[in-house]
Amino acid sequence: MIVIIGGGISGLSVAWFLQNQGMPVRVLETGAQPGGTIRTSFQQNFCVEHGPNSTLQKPGHPEDALGRLIDGLGLETRLQVANPLAARRYVLRDGQLKPLPASPPAFFLSSFFSWQAKRQLLREPFQPRATTEETIATFVRRRLGREFLDYVVEPFVSGVYAGDPEQLSVQAAVAKIYALERDHGSLLRGAWHQGRMLKGAGLPKGRMISFDRGMGVLPTTIAQQLAPGTVQTRFKVTGLTPLPDGQWAIDGVTVTADGQPTDATEKILAQAVVLAVPAPVAAQLVTPFAATAAAALAAIPYAPIASIALGYRRARVLHPLDGFGFLVPRRATQAHDKLPLLGTLFSSTLFPNRAPAGQVLLTAFIGGMTQPALLERTDRLLIDLVEANLAYCVQSQIPADFATLTRYAAAIPQYTLGHLQRVQQVEADLARFPHIHLRANWRDGVSVADCVRNGERLAEHIIHEQKS
Ligand SMILES: Cc1cc2nc3c(=O)[nH]c(=O)nc-3n(C[C@H](O)[C@H](O)[C@H](O)COP(=O)(O)OP(=O)(O)OC[C@H]3O[C@@H](n4cnc5c(N)ncnc54)[C@H](O)[C@@H]3O)c2cc1C
Repeated sequence: MIVIIGGGISGLSVAWFLQNQGMPVRVLETGAQPGGTIRTSFQQNFCVEHGPNSTLQKPGHPEDALGRLIDGLGLETRLQVANPLAARRYVLRDGQLKPLPASPPAFFLSSFFSWQAKRQLLREPFQPRATTEETIATFVRRRLGREFLDYVVEPFVSGVYAGDPEQLSVQAAVAKIYALERDHGSLLRGAWHQGRMLKGAGLPKGRMISFDRGMGVLPTTIAQQLAPGTVQTRFKVTGLTPLPDGQWAIDGVTVTADGQPTDATEKILAQAVVLAVPAPVAAQLVTPFAATAAAALAAIPYAPIASIALGYRRARVLHPLDGFGFLVPRRATQAHDKLPLLGTLFSSTLFPNRAPAGQVLLTAFIGGMTQPALLERTDRLLIDLVEANLAYCVQSQIPADFATLTRYAAAIPQYTLGHLQRVQQVEADLARFPHIHLRANWRDGVSVADCVRNGERLAEHIIHEQKS
């Protein structure tokens, strides 16, 4: 039996791809329901996403494990592709939401960027390659200039990682962008080359997707389609011990509906174990037998974040909400652009059935690595703050008709400088033990699609290992 600790999308994907190949698996999940960060609820007829709102799928690409999972689960008919308007992304600049130019010609024609920024872009192909690991900020300043960093990359980084580009490693956090420089010597040349390759292979561009009843459909359906009894919720793993015969002993306790451990402890034996839990939990579990791996895992920082869903009657928001949403640059030069918001999704524009008829749903994010102290405020104060910021950005009336807040003390792992070495240290230390694997969003990508792809790869590796 292969035991997977953690029933988020990483653990569930490993379980599904393994069971699909006839491997017996068991998933132990401390929460009341499977899915981890992915959770959808229905409140006052709004479809509220507490974690991810959508994810990027690349149909037809060899790496599209998410597509294979969706097909395997029979979820094609429940798939929703985001409104094409999602291609428009706004950034707050000079007190207004301005659409980011979406193509190189648009970049040169638009007044969004200064002529200095445009000139710097033309020089990009002639910049030398990096010789050492760099932060995203250093990399972008060197290749594209300060304005590009402040108004494109920094807001993008806060949109994906709730992170700080001055800390994140370009090699680890945006590996595909780093590879353009490594392989082609230039981002522009590399992007052009990749575009031609995609076109030549007849592959479409990626698309943002969700499901008819939100992202929660994905983990719920996986759990339903695994053999009955595979997923055990409300079970917290408290200890892990390598046994002399190569097996693993797993200790755990049942937890109550409000997350309190009970006295009901259990010991489970596993031939192989997959730790699909956040890095700090993995660190605790491996500490007794792999101190180096534990120290490397414990050194991975996490960004705190609050996600606030707000519903309004349509007439109470003046902005057309004709896009994906907006991002707020941290290093805005104008005082009136310095808002505490990280950004806001126009959720009911992306997927219209997220709000009842005649109403709209917005999802705002606050906190992150750059403003963690904001999360010390009460829920009410944070909602007040977001309502005031939205009134400024999208001219919404105060208060919202509906508001609900979800907090994460440790939401998204940060792939900071040295991250790849840390992951290597974890691997090297644990290589002393047979049949233990660690897979979750703290390595090889944080998006839902990344987690599914990594889950599929690990399942293939385990199947190979078990057969040989
Ligand atoms: C607010 C927010 C918005 C996001 N938006 C997007 C987005 O729009 N698009 C996108 O692609 N990605 C987004 N992400 C990222 C993505 O959702 C996550 O990276 C991904 O879902 C993580 O999955 P995981 O399984 O690796 O980890 P988790 O979801 O953290 O799962 C780990 C699981 O382990 C369980 N666990 C922990 N300790 C134990 C224990 N001792 N015993 C048993 N079980 C345990 C936890 O309960 C949890 O269920 C967002 C993340 C957040 C927080």
